[in-house]
Amino acid sequence: MAKRVPEIFGSLVFNDEVMRERLPKDIYKSLHKTIESGNQLDPAVANSVAAAMKDWALEKGATHYTHWFQPMTGITAEKHDSFISPTSDGRVIMEFSGKELIKGEPDASSFPSGGLRSTFEARGYTAWDPTSYAFIKDGSLCIPCVFCAYGGEVLDKKTPLLRSIEAVGEQALRVLNLFGNTGVRRVVTTVGPEQEYFLVDKALYESRRDLIFCGRTLFGARPPKGQEMDDHYFGAIKPRIAAFMKELDEELWKLGILSKTKHNEAAPAQHEMAPIFTTANLAVDQNQLTMEVMKNVALRHNLVCLLHEKPFAGVNGSGKHNNWSLSTDTGVNLLAPGKTPYENAQFLLFLCAVMKAVDEHQDLLRISVATAGNDHRLGAHEAPPAIVSMFLGDELTAILEALESGEVYNGTGRIKMNIGVHVLPPIPKDTTDRNRTSPFAFTGNKFEFRMLGASISTAESNIVLNTAVADTLQQFADELEGAEDFTAALNALIRRTIKAHKRIIFNGDGYAEAWQEEAARRGLCNYRSTPDALPHFVDPKNVELFTRHHVFTETEMHSRLEILLETYAKTVNIEALTFADMVKRDILPAVSDFAASLASAISAKRAVVPTMACRYESELFEKLSDLTDLAYAQVDRLEAALAEVKARGGDALQTAQDYRDLVLFAMTELRATVDAMEPITSEEYWPYPTYADLMFSI
Ligand code: ADP
Ligand code: MG
Repeated sequence: MAKRVPEIFGSLVFNDEVMRERLPKDIYKSLHKTIESGNQLDPAVANSVAAAMKDWALEKGATHYTHWFQPMTGITAEKHDSFISPTSDGRVIMEFSGKELIKGEPDASSFPSGGLRSTFEARGYTAWDPTSYAFIKDGSLCIPCVFCAYGGEVLDKKTPLLRSIEAVGEQALRVLNLFGNTGVRRVVTTVGPEQEYFLVDKALYESRRDLIFCGRTLFGARPPKGQEMDDHYFGAIKPRIAAFMKELDEELWKLGILSKTKHNEAAPAQHEMAPIFTTANLAVDQNQLTMEVMKNVALRHNLVCLLHEKPFAGVNGSGKHNNWSLSTDTGVNLLAPGKTPYENAQFLLFLCAVMKAVDEHQDLLRISVATAGNDHRLGAHEAPPAIVSMFLGDELTAILEALESGEVYNGTGRIKMNIGVHVLPPIPKDTTDRNRTSPFAFTGNKFEFRMLGASISTAESNIVLNTAVADTLQQFADELEGAEDFTAALNALIRRTIKAHKRIIFNGDGYAEAWQEEAARRGLCNYRSTPDALPHFVDPKNVELFTRHHVFTETEMHSRLEILLETYAKTVNIEALTFADMVKRDILPAVSDFAASLASAISAKRAVVPTMACRYESELFEKLSDLTDLAYAQVDRLEAALAEVKARGGDALQTAQDYRDLVLFAMTELRATVDAMEPITSEEYWPYPTYADLMFSI
């Protein structure tokens, strides 16, 4: 196998190497130019690329092609067409034109548009994004695409991402020019998303409708053993899991995904995969693909991969760590501290740009991770709180403090600290990664945004980060380009930025109660739930930000908000219906049967000895009868809450709030009762696999 890795790596990807090999030289050059400049593709070039792509795909056994895109549903969409084309003599040939490569017309009415288009003009189109390589999946040539309505409004996650990458690249380049780095032609965002997931046995999964319909358990009593022993994290990977991971790696490698690290995570049955970082556009596509491949490979091992943020209450949820940095086309990481005073000054300016961006747009970062699923995780076990703050580590924080005050202790006394003149003390990488509780941590040469839920696309967070940083870099460049004395202006700017935005820096324990209070004193936002966070998406400052950088139009922003609110409401609605169904059809009948069996046991015993106390049976009988009556009433209340929300018929925001306040509340009450019944109901009668079964059976 080891020898084969370089051979299989990227074998299903129409990557640069394949293009260079298979395209005529001028076509290859022209395509490359388009990729780098983002300009329109010449139709003649498209035809030639399509022909080469088709031949390559046929050799690899593909029969179909699909425009692969990322609508607002959060998962990828594809509609497969075969390459066949009939000939006059009744046979078929395999064809694929440049037109088919460049543009597709899926029925846009099946994708959420947030009111952007009425159903009678439910047309949309997909357009090839040549910056992301085509690949083969399950016998289909997949062509990464953007997705727009016919009016040109964006209906996907990819288009705004591409725009944000362009925006931040352009502004970063201006800043680099100020530092005399004129050799750099392009700056790109680099992203490495670490992905957490759970694996459960497929047969057990299939016997729980909550897992099937909601991706998470809606009830389940705590098992006697949870994650307190830490034995899962440090333990060896079990053979069945190891076999899954091995195949996962191979499948990802074939797709050109740099799967690098695999290990167990803190919770039982929880694991993590991390790829080597790549450009943001590819990383976002590849993370979507990774999630899909994980699910498919798991099935082949009779496992189910759960990507929900909180499949089980009481143990860690699953997140995604979005490692983010800026890199030049000459390979320089702009968030790596430099070795010379000049490099350090540049590094500090970029650091300040991120700090200001995160402080000014905390709300947007929070919004970018706001989903019904992630609400169960943020602020819970081992997860970052709903407050956005930034961890810089002690050394870097001390440096910023010295810069702000203009003085530094050099070992013998206080000296004046000036950017661009003094060499910064070295910033050791390892000490920056100790704080696992920070939602936004500097980890030596990149930032790690840890609030993302495991199942969500990494597009949103990167759109926000790129655009927010583009904005601060633009302000910096505007100010510095006009400065008479660059170094003095730089010093003043950095000092001012630190003073204005240092409130976002927090190096302490983000999970501590005291932080919530401290954050409130600092005026940081703390949006606890999705309906709290989402409406701020269209706050004037945010509309100005996104429109200024041409990432979203205001109409697009309102439509996205609408979709996100609707998605929240739909998610909770499905959960409530599923829960009510499971309780009414399975749990109540089962517990009642068990109670009846206790009653029969009492009668049977008393038939022999009429004075028998039967304490065990009668006390348990009573307890269970009380609980079933309670659960019965609570299911009623849950259904009444659902009816109430429907009857109110509020707008999208009101409905989302109602689902949270009425429906989720009723579900929490019902869950408490169900979880009280489970441990005192005979295993023989309990209709579902328990937490212990699900988490400890592999
Ligand atoms: P840590 O030990 O701090 O988690 P790793 O080196 O293991 O750091 O990296 C974690 C993730 O961060 C990996 O996916 C890695 O590829 C990614 N990463 C590393 N450097 C960068 C960078 N410059 N930009 C984006 N992601 C990066
Ligand atoms: Mg990490």
